[in-house]
Amino acid sequence: MTRARVLLLTAALGPLDYRVPQGTEAPLGSVVVAPLGPRRMGGAVWEDASFGAPDPVGDNRLRNLYEVVPVPPVPAPLRRLVEWTSDYYLAPPGAVLRMVLPGAAFADARRPIIEYRATGALPPRMTPQRTVALEKIGGRQGTVRELAALAEVSDGVIRGLVQAGALEAVSVSADTPYPEPDPAFAPPALSAEQAAAAGELRDAVAAARFETLLLDGVTGSGKTEVYMEAIAAAVETGGQALVLLPEIALTEPMLTRFAARFGCEPVAWHSGLRSTERRRAWHAIARGDAKIVVGARSALFLPYARLGLIVVDEAHETSFKQEDGVHYHARDVAVMRGAFEKLPVILASATPALESLAQVEAGRYRHIVLPARYGGATLPDLSAIDMRIDPPDRGRWLAPPLVDALGDRLPKGEQSLLFLNRRGFAPLTLCRTCGHRIQCPNCTAWMVEHRLVHRLACHHCGHVMPPPRLCPECEDEDSLVACGPGVERIADEVAERFPEARTAIVTSDTLWSPAKAAEFVDAVEGGLVDIIIGTQLVTKGYHFPNLTLVGVVDADLGLDGGDLRASERTFQQIAQVAGRAGRGVKPGEVLIQTRVPDAPVMAALVANDREGFYAAEAAARRQAGAPPYGRFAALVISSEEMEVARGVAQRLGEKAPVADGLAIYGPAPAPLAMLRGRHRFRLLLHAPRSFDLQGAIRDWVGRIDWPAKARLAIDIDPYSFV
Ligand SMILES: [Zn+2]
Ligand SMILES: [Zn+2]
Repeated sequence: MTRARVLLLTAALGPLDYRVPQGTEAPLGSVVVAPLGPRRMGGAVWEDASFGAPDPVGDNRLRNLYEVVPVPPVPAPLRRLVEWTSDYYLAPPGAVLRMVLPGAAFADARRPIIEYRATGALPPRMTPQRTVALEKIGGRQGTVRELAALAEVSDGVIRGLVQAGALEAVSVSADTPYPEPDPAFAPPALSAEQAAAAGELRDAVAAARFETLLLDGVTGSGKTEVYMEAIAAAVETGGQALVLLPEIALTEPMLTRFAARFGCEPVAWHSGLRSTERRRAWHAIARGDAKIVVGARSALFLPYARLGLIVVDEAHETSFKQEDGVHYHARDVAVMRGAFEKLPVILASATPALESLAQVEAGRYRHIVLPARYGGATLPDLSAIDMRIDPPDRGRWLAPPLVDALGDRLPKGEQSLLFLNRRGFAPLTLCRTCGHRIQCPNCTAWMVEHRLVHRLACHHCGHVMPPPRLCPECEDEDSLVACGPGVERIADEVAERFPEARTAIVTSDTLWSPAKAAEFVDAVEGGLVDIIIGTQLVTKGYHFPNLTLVGVVDADLGLDGGDLRASERTFQQIAQVAGRAGRGVKPGEVLIQTRVPDAPVMAALVANDREGFYAAEAAARRQAGAPPYGRFAALVISSEEMEVARGVAQRLGEKAPVADGLAIYGPAPAPLAMLRGRHRFRLLLHAPRSFDLQGAIRDWVGRIDWPAKARLAIDIDPYSFV
């Protein structure tokens, strides 16, 4: 009889033993479906030695595996990566494995899926709901559930439209092969510097061994063209290349750039895919047929059959850190994947993270520098507007020098970008009569006004409500006022000042799909936009040659809040958004509105003194024992009942480990004391780099009885301290 140990796709359990039915083979890594109580659950066959033995089960009590799924087994190096990720981030291995084997892995790629699309015929009976649904669906296609989500209606409405003949069924095959990228399709003309860097990267791919290369090039230096040469080298030798991007919104423009270089679009992987697209992509990746994959961080764990290269673009971006479920950092795990699979990993950035630069200094990463912009373009001129000397008019947000600079660009037909990292119209609604502030009922957070959709919204839990007419506290009429600006309010000011200007607001509210992002790029490239007003979504990736002015509306915004990376993040964000200016023939100008022009980060930006800034920041971090020179971990205990959360946090605090160099802060209410209706208490651990934080935490949380109503989130190397 053959036994198989199976790691199931559940966070709740370790591996379990099963019987492999006669006549079936289930070697290590095999993807299987197994019985768990009355349920069917996916998993993978795993080494016996990996997680310690489960309770022994006699041969006669073993249950049969239901099925060995006909897909390639999870390769050994990827199994090691799952174990490492689980161990390092203290996450259940089954939860990590779920990222390798999403639902798409278990769907038969040969079986077609039925999708629906509009026929153009209107149903005999129109309702307002049907009208809106058909409008939202437009030319798109999807399953009933996907179209219902897209149109924000129930499945029943979609089915009704099918019956009425307004939507028709289309059979979609999920195993259609992808076109093959051609490395020789359109190689770019590289500058001498680019060619030298590309040569180094190509050699690293050819060497086919683990190495981390930091591709460090100023904005507009043509990093993408350079790392595309490494991708070409990987594809030439039959390998696969993975490019990780920090935002879904960046995938669409990237697909277009890749198509221009390789003759066809690469395979995309992100949460915005339809289920047919996911299924097709997963199977092509596992077979090795998807040669180039461009995706969000979840693409990192997929089971590539012949991975030859990983590129992490905009590698400094903190959105590579996942903040729920498995709290992993995709940049760091990418490097580990390179180590397990013996392949090069390229981290590309114009403003590398201090962590990456410290690795260069320690001799662990190779540093490849592109010091100049491509094609003779010059770096933009940065200057600060001191808001204490040059304040905006009352009730306005743009200072006179910035308004003048915008006015200059319009008659010349040049484009401008105003950057403010705040969605919506106003971050706070306040009662003029009693001072009441409108808060989210589920979170310790203010409701943000979104005037375009006439809603107040909580950016933490998604709670929305119509803006009240009466103050909910004193019931005074029309006493509520918007405080502070968001991008929508800046757009209003621009419209008042420059009624002739054509504007585009760019936030996750307006660019919520890759298609919307593509629309935006087309509009700007086609000269249909004069002034872009955007959040951090516009700070990176875009290349608009006719954009010559960048205005940073509130450079001080990111400095509040006491985050240990606040200065670094501010520097990166402003340097990145500044990098959007003057990428073509015309030089760029950047105006930074600040109340603290003398702060080191502002002075360094204006003086274009990156080295000086990083050196000072590194020295301060070293002094404080902060990352990358020390380590943090956070434990957040949450419960719907405040007393339950507080009680567990206190018991944990009483049993806190005592060790040399280890400091524990708390328990204390987390800065976001309530989130999605759960009360939160936090313990923060601080230790030297060499300290075994994971070991200490594992021991510690094991010594407590956890009530069912309390939940623990462990965040190793946290990036968010709320
Ligand atoms: Zn009031
Ligand atoms: Zn909320």
